[in-house]
Amino acid sequence: MSKKIVVLGAGTGGTIVSNNLRRHLSDDWEITVIDRDDKHVYQPGLLFVPFGIQNANTLVKSRKKYILPGVNFVIDEITHIDTEKRNVRTRNHSFDYDFLVIATGCRIMPEEDDGLMDAWNKNAFSFYYVDAAVQLKKRLDEFKGGKIVMNIAAVPFKCPVAPIEFVFLADWYLKKKGIRHKSEIELVTPLPGAFTKPKATAIFTEAAKEKNIKITTQFELSEVNGKERYIESMKGDKVSYDTLVIIPTTQGDSVISQCGLDDGIGFVPTHHNTLQALKHERVYVIGDATNVPTSKAGSVAHYEADVVVFNIMAEIHGVKPEEIFDGHSTCFIVYEKGKSSLIDFNYKIEPLPGQFPLPHMGPFSLLKPTKMNWYGKLGFEPLYWNVLLAGRHLGMPPTLVMAGKEVG
Ligand SMILES: Cc1cc2nc3c(=O)[nH]c(=O)nc-3n(C[C@H](O)[C@H](O)[C@H](O)COP(=O)(O)OP(=O)(O)OC[C@H]3O[C@@H](n4cnc5c(N)ncnc54)[C@H](O)[C@@H]3O)c2cc1C
Repeated sequence: MSKKIVVLGAGTGGTIVSNNLRRHLSDDWEITVIDRDDKHVYQPGLLFVPFGIQNANTLVKSRKKYILPGVNFVIDEITHIDTEKRNVRTRNHSFDYDFLVIATGCRIMPEEDDGLMDAWNKNAFSFYYVDAAVQLKKRLDEFKGGKIVMNIAAVPFKCPVAPIEFVFLADWYLKKKGIRHKSEIELVTPLPGAFTKPKATAIFTEAAKEKNIKITTQFELSEVNGKERYIESMKGDKVSYDTLVIIPTTQGDSVISQCGLDDGIGFVPTHHNTLQALKHERVYVIGDATNVPTSKAGSVAHYEADVVVFNIMAEIHGVKPEEIFDGHSTCFIVYEKGKSSLIDFNYKIEPLPGQFPLPHMGPFSLLKPTKMNWYGKLGFEPLYWNVLLAGRHLGMPPTLVMAGKEVG
């Protein structure tokens, strides 16, 4: 029997899972991870770039450097996935596999939003990839007052807390520049609230009110009109802006759709608990590429990696994969420079107040903006590069822990 595992995508999920598999499997298992380039971006840091809190150059590192020796890293475009023949093709190579892990993430598609490209980098900006975040920084540097609208073009989108963090940081930034009184900030979202979970939404909405940030909900974007500077919804409602900050339409990678593996928008139908691809044997899915109903977040990819590795090991030993994953997600939510909140939840349990990760001791507080949480947000970056990507464990299970949470 050949012993080959192929991992598609060397971003957050693909790197963690490849390294974690290398740690667990003997050398007769060949592990190959494929990505189109050698640039690993620490995406949470993109939020800070427009506000000058972080320099974009520090967010990009060589993927190769973070992939363990013993994992075969291939830089190439994945062009075909054949789950019947158990084969993956790239522009220049062909790879047979015994197990496949799909970790191809999301594709940001501004060209899908009507009118957006005409306004792009003129009065419409984003911070969802490096070049865009740098352009937005220039715009904010020159901003002298006016209306900033943060819009989410469509669901799903990655990191559902990022737009809330953006408007909170915009409030802090404009105050620091002394032009908050000359400015308006509005979050315009297709969701029924500022976030996907009702209890946390109520808390974030209250904080937005205190910061004089308007929230407009259930706004499904139909068009960006950069000439007259407004966005229009499917229902015909218009919101005017001076500077638009947008999370463009997001889908899964095109190779997933082209090979018929997707749910219609590029994400792979995935078992919510085992993380197996629903229609394909020996295929697992991790991170943003799945269609599981939890946040598209790095923390989720990290928790999922443990489950995928466990279940591949189970299959190798002839045991049925277990239904372990519970949708666990953990996210800091920045309120201003120096203060952050934190949420920890899963498919069934909404974010609750309490302490994290240790009951009574924290040191982080759930659903509460604190300085310690801000340090947690900053400290996450070295942890990401040096510990998490390497597939090392923090002694935490991948599933939600109730100890430390205040119920009722
Ligand atoms: C502004 C912003 C802020 C964020 N903040 C947070 C946060 O605070 N906390 C948090 O947990 N998460 C956050 N996230 C989300 C987090 O970064 C992503 O959810 C996470 O990186 C997903 O990991 P992934 O492995 O699924 O996808 P990615 O890390 O995006 O990796 C996918 C990889 O697949 C490769 N790929 C895709 N298709 C092909 C192909 N055809 N051929 C070759 N290679 C291919 C891509 O090049 C890419 O490297 C944030 C994201 C953004 C944009």
